[in-house]
Amino acid sequence: MAEGGYNATLCNVDFEDSIESHFQDTVSGGAFVNNERLVRVLVENAPGRILKLEEDGALFYRTSDGKIDQRAFGRQSHKRTCYSGDRTGGEIMATLIDLLRASNVRFIKGAAVDFLLDGNKVTGVAAFDPEGAKFFLIRSKAVILTTGGGCRIYKITTNSFQGTGDGFAIGYRAGAELIDMEFIQFHPTGMVFPDSAKGILVTEAVRAEGGILLNSLDERFMEKYAPDRMELAGRDVVSRAIYREIRAGRSTPHNGVYLSLKHLDPDFIEQRLPQTVEQFRDLSGVDITKELMEVSPTAHHIMGGLRISEKTETNLKGLFAAGEVTGGIHGANRLGGNALADLQVFGYIAGHSAAHSSFESSLGKVHDKQITQIHRAIISPLQPKQDGKRPSQIRHELEELMWANVGILRTKEKLTHALKDIQRLKSTPLEIGNHNTTFAYEQLEALQVRNMLIVSEIIIKAALFREESRGAHFREDFPETNPSWRKNIIISKEKIHTVPVVVF
Ligand SMILES: Cc1cc2nc3c(=O)[nH]c(=O)nc-3n(C[C@H](O)[C@H](O)[C@H](O)COP(=O)(O)OP(=O)(O)OC[C@H]3O[C@@H](n4cnc5c(N)ncnc54)[C@H](O)[C@@H]3O)c2cc1C
Repeated sequence: MAEGGYNATLCNVDFEDSIESHFQDTVSGGAFVNNERLVRVLVENAPGRILKLEEDGALFYRTSDGKIDQRAFGRQSHKRTCYSGDRTGGEIMATLIDLLRASNVRFIKGAAVDFLLDGNKVTGVAAFDPEGAKFFLIRSKAVILTTGGGCRIYKITTNSFQGTGDGFAIGYRAGAELIDMEFIQFHPTGMVFPDSAKGILVTEAVRAEGGILLNSLDERFMEKYAPDRMELAGRDVVSRAIYREIRAGRSTPHNGVYLSLKHLDPDFIEQRLPQTVEQFRDLSGVDITKELMEVSPTAHHIMGGLRISEKTETNLKGLFAAGEVTGGIHGANRLGGNALADLQVFGYIAGHSAAHSSFESSLGKVHDKQITQIHRAIISPLQPKQDGKRPSQIRHELEELMWANVGILRTKEKLTHALKDIQRLKSTPLEIGNHNTTFAYEQLEALQVRNMLIVSEIIIKAALFREESRGAHFREDFPETNPSWRKNIIISKEKIHTVPVVVF
């Protein structure tokens, strides 16, 4: 789904760019709570990984002299975002899938449900295959967790239906430490109509290519909120600005603001933003080369996640993690284009670390006691029964309450209210339909909802704990950034506490 691009200091377009500048942009964009050692690994390795992707067949847009083209993205001092139109993620995935097909990697279909544990060591995964409605176990010497983000806990989101945050919850249940879970990125520009398209991403590339934001009074309101960077200020800043314009009643007919490209040449728009042209034409009947888009913020990215080392190790032996399920790299606010770089850099490292660790270890034990426990806690509650609420009902209530209470502007009152509601939902018995063709999918949804409730609870606890505003976390009752809060919140099954920021 990734559209706009991949950040790497290649200096193909902007000769003034440097690794140091990418580092500084990432750390200041992250409001100075990033793990700076991880950021250093990211910025130093991002160029090498994109060049390897190109060598493996990925096609990126090019400059007239045949180098990978780069454009300016939000809150960055230089043009360093490499792209393939507005379909960058698809191009990268297609390349990687081709490589996998040509390899001897064996694929096993199913959703990971929980880790198998031998003390502090992850010895495998319990999984569920909805197609055969069967549970199975995979034993392994090393596991890499790459289940992505979890913004499906919000009513309005850019995330796919799979973005239910399973990995955060699976890790948490097994005793993994999570970092910075209070930092949720609301992307400034999501579609607002029709209802079925609400939340779908309108890529930052639109603003990178010159798109401007207007309120219903035709005012370019970013002049008021971020006069220097305007529409290309940090996503946290632009989202709050849009939210405030809407709250002040200067909104569009569908309760958003306008995003305009009308001052640009239609051919240029078609060439640079083909997917966005198609998306608006097909979903809402708007021709963005001539008409205004209506947009508003949408839940996009969880900056927090499993706490990892530079080698992607977690605090659990044998468990490595990479991508959006990890935390610490992006601090309190991720820069557009840094996630794709993060996946390539840390995905590569995770592969090496896991392979290395499995050469050195033997298969761990699988304990009967744990299997019984998985049965009792996970499988038994999924048998058909008629009392309680359907998983889809609980999911719907959760999405509404997270959007209303744990969104862009937060208060202790709203967060506490949400936490109570989540506890109520957690104790609501699940109703699962009788055996039929959709039965196994309802079981799968029940497993996802169980994870979504845990992830939401973790986010709220961390958001209550951080009594200041920083990056994407804005507390109306603590509106200032407090220098003494320049620290990370670590949350695990046992406790919640703070640790000093890792500086380079
Ligand atoms: C619409 C959109 C546009 C974006 N555009 C950009 C961009 O231009 N540039 C950028 O840098 N970033 C962008 N991002 C962010 C970036 O794409 C994500 O952060 C990134 O793709 C996450 O990659 P990942 O590999 O960690 O997880 P994902 O790509 O989300 O992959 C996770 C995989 O795990 C699977 N999974 C989940 N749970 C389970 C389970 N229990 N068992 C088994 N499998 C499971 C999922 O099905 C999925 O295949 C965008 C995000 C979105 C949503």
